[in-house]
Amino acid sequence: MFDLGIKNGNVFSGKDNLGKTNIYVNNGKIVKISKENLEVRQEIDAKDMFVMPGLIDSHIHLSGIKGGSLLKIMFEKPEYRILRASKWLEKLLLAGFTTVRDCGDPISISLAKGVKDGIIIGPNIIAAGRPITQTFGHGEISHDIPLEFSEVLGFSEICDGVESCIHSARKVLREGSDFIKIFATGGVLSQRDRPENPQLTYEEIKSIVNEAEKIGTYVAAHAHGDKGARIAIEAGIKTLEHGTMLKDDTMKLMIEKDVSLTPTLTIQEVIYKYGKQIGVDEWGLEKITEVRNSISSVVKKAKEYGIRIITGTDLGFETGLSDIDIGKNWVELTLLVERGGLTPKEALQAATYNSALSLRINSGLIDTDRNADIIIIDGDPEENISDIAKIDHVIKNGNIIVEKGKIINYS
Ligand SMILES: [Zn+2]
Repeated sequence: MFDLGIKNGNVFSGKDNLGKTNIYVNNGKIVKISKENLEVRQEIDAKDMFVMPGLIDSHIHLSGIKGGSLLKIMFEKPEYRILRASKWLEKLLLAGFTTVRDCGDPISISLAKGVKDGIIIGPNIIAAGRPITQTFGHGEISHDIPLEFSEVLGFSEICDGVESCIHSARKVLREGSDFIKIFATGGVLSQRDRPENPQLTYEEIKSIVNEAEKIGTYVAAHAHGDKGARIAIEAGIKTLEHGTMLKDDTMKLMIEKDVSLTPTLTIQEVIYKYGKQIGVDEWGLEKITEVRNSISSVVKKAKEYGIRIITGTDLGFETGLSDIDIGKNWVELTLLVERGGLTPKEALQAATYNSALSLRINSGLIDTDRNADIIIIDGDPEENISDIAKIDHVIKNGNIIVEKGKIINYS
């Protein structure tokens, strides 16, 4: 007898379509995939539905702020931000996300623990905690406030020089980071640096990578410009975030070094289309067009080269918009198809198997011994990617959390 059976669905494994089959779950794990109709304690009839692994957002910021000005991260009370972010976690579950990777926010470590300990509900969270930046780096956000304020406000950990970077890496790991996030170039939403400027040196990044690897984890690098991206890849980072200006040689190096790409099309789209309306700081509006335009061809090339592409929205604030907001994070999949030239199947792979592989987690695939993180969709996103929004059931660790689009299990 099995705990749960999901029967008669059209099953996409995370890699391929398995056709109409049944999935059996015991103790939170998938234990059998079979066309046989076996006895179960709890059954979901998924006839005419699409069954697939739970979605993964590999780049989010659980900052809990409203509106597009990142400065609120530093000037709004963390306690209040946590309350808002915990509401986001419910929205993410309803949107079919069973795992998210927070790519930098101090509060994400407590949120991750809260979910793990069953205090709040939400997707599993893999948390970077505080990201690492150089002085006058992207992670400072504002470059006009006195440097001491940046240090005290503590959004990022600031390091300069190898010794200092080793210390910073050890500090954030001690704080509970699951992996280390660094800023290897300037960015859009930071005040006075440029996306094409490299940040941190090869030696600095290498020293951070060493510290991460010593405890069995890895480094994710924010990089827009090709030069900074290349330095980070050579220094051993494992996921490249944004990659908006990558050149051919660097992409080839990514294949050689097994580095994944998170194109984060969602954030670029939201700032490009609605930046002013949602209060993005002036400097962000000035820099967005270039990166938003170049990423489209980078994704197409990355696909051609066979780089592992993964889904990350980079949403870090509530927009209040009807089409792109927290809880609509599947928009990244539709953008990968519309702007990046992926097929719907490739977008589904990016959000499941590819992301799980890059994040080193045991989900993202319908296979025996994998975590039973499964979603059921009232549509066929392999045919029409926008059907990904039609989430009917969400199963996390073998428990039914969402049924007919409503949360039914808060325990
Ligand atoms: Zn980000």
